[in-house]
Amino acid sequence: MKTFYKPFLFLLTLVVSVGHAQTADDVVKSIVKEANENSQLEILAHELMDVIGPRLVGTPQMKQANDWAVAKYQGWGITARNEQWGEWRGWERGITHIDLVEPRVRTLEGMMLAWSPGTPKKGVTAECVILPDVANAEEFKAWLPNAKGKFVLLSMNQPTGRPDYNWEEFATDESFKKMRDERNAMNRAWRQRIRNTGHSTRGANSLQQVLEDAGAVGIIQSNWSRGFGVNKIFGANTKKVPTVDLSLEDYGLLYRLAEHGSKPQIRLKAESKDLGPQPTYNTIAEIKGSEKPNEYVMLSAHFDSWDGGTGATDNGTGTLVMMEALRILKKIYPNPKRTILVGHWGSEEQGLNGSRAFVEDHPEVVDNLQALFNQDNGTGRVVRLSGQGFLHAYDYLGRWMEKVPRNISSQIETTFPGTPGGGGSDYAAFVAAGAPGFSLSSLNWSYFSYTWHTNRDTYDKIVFDDVRNNAILTAILVYMASEDPETTSRERSVLPVNPRNGQQRTWPTPRKANRKGGMN
Ligand SMILES: [Zn+2]
Repeated sequence: MKTFYKPFLFLLTLVVSVGHAQTADDVVKSIVKEANENSQLEILAHELMDVIGPRLVGTPQMKQANDWAVAKYQGWGITARNEQWGEWRGWERGITHIDLVEPRVRTLEGMMLAWSPGTPKKGVTAECVILPDVANAEEFKAWLPNAKGKFVLLSMNQPTGRPDYNWEEFATDESFKKMRDERNAMNRAWRQRIRNTGHSTRGANSLQQVLEDAGAVGIIQSNWSRGFGVNKIFGANTKKVPTVDLSLEDYGLLYRLAEHGSKPQIRLKAESKDLGPQPTYNTIAEIKGSEKPNEYVMLSAHFDSWDGGTGATDNGTGTLVMMEALRILKKIYPNPKRTILVGHWGSEEQGLNGSRAFVEDHPEVVDNLQALFNQDNGTGRVVRLSGQGFLHAYDYLGRWMEKVPRNISSQIETTFPGTPGGGGSDYAAFVAAGAPGFSLSSLNWSYFSYTWHTNRDTYDKIVFDDVRNNAILTAILVYMASEDPETTSRERSVLPVNPRNGQQRTWPTPRKANRKGGMN
């Protein structure tokens, strides 16, 4: 090629790129390409779930996660900050090690509950006794001195460690029915056994606290989650001695040994630190709008978790979706029409506290919110989208969904106008304030039995292809919402009558954030 053509070609390229503004289809194509060819999901998941770990409100790991997210965003050229919204009882989990030492030796599978006190450094060795079956509170009081120096087994012994779907597949109809009838009767009897003590296992002056006051050295429970080898791990109710959850298999072993007079002894070493009140944060990141900077499109997912596993699907995956979507948007669509914000909320698990606090603290965002997209029910691809009761949601969500690739949108069942979700997750805090918050609702992948609040909510359960599709979906919806020439309508539909009680449903109203938790 001769030299004198060069300026002409350069000019031609310039004219083409200026004259031909990027169409929505171009942007969507680029989003899909970036998500598929330069995905950051695996490394983000590793850093968050494997290195930082679970994100219980008030723990140092939660604060580490907040700082990690800010640094990640800054690394992608996105402005980010941690916004304090309250304080929570600080606590740090140490090791839990549990061994059966009599009548034989076996290391048991279990862990302390969140916020549990630990044992003395050298550990505690003691016999396990079953909560007695007493006739009334008087009799229980008379029994209480027997708890001194013992671990008390506080859960019912499950008759089977096989989940119902396994029975359904292999049992005869008769034996499946027989097992379920027996288990129902056992459940009723166990609830009665607890009631007969005159105490409840929850709240102030709980049975656990009565037992520790009587000198019990620890509480042993097993909160089976109805799947193979999986338990739910919540917070402890003891103040001085540890509360430990054991796997169904090992709890059953202790229970049967105790029941048959073998006087099982365990050695428990459990470490934890009470850190006093700690500040709690939401992590907020932002790409400023170029035409309507005071109108907002939001990405939303809670950042905190329970700490039985690593919070991989509750809500690590929702977190990854929002981080990855914002990263892609910054790269492909750096000058959005409206301001794009992401909220990584603290303390959803104790009642949407981070998002409720944000709604209270930022009326300027809530009042000018074009749309918010929240994801918080596991690793699965999005399969449901509801208009949350907003009368015209179909018009705008329908418009935005049109640009989503068929292979993703064809999976999604939509409901319009739908009904406003109650307290399910953080979008509800916005809906209650009248703002258009939507839930990107996932396929469950056995969420409720296997990963939700369990000790098995870990990296290996993440289905990255589904999470990748969710990041693409979110990025496209946010892009379309930001570009839309129209501001979204907030007009509410008349809600249908509740078929269960025949009463008129009403719109939810805002509830106050609990900004000072776990300290009593
Ligand atoms: Zn969640």
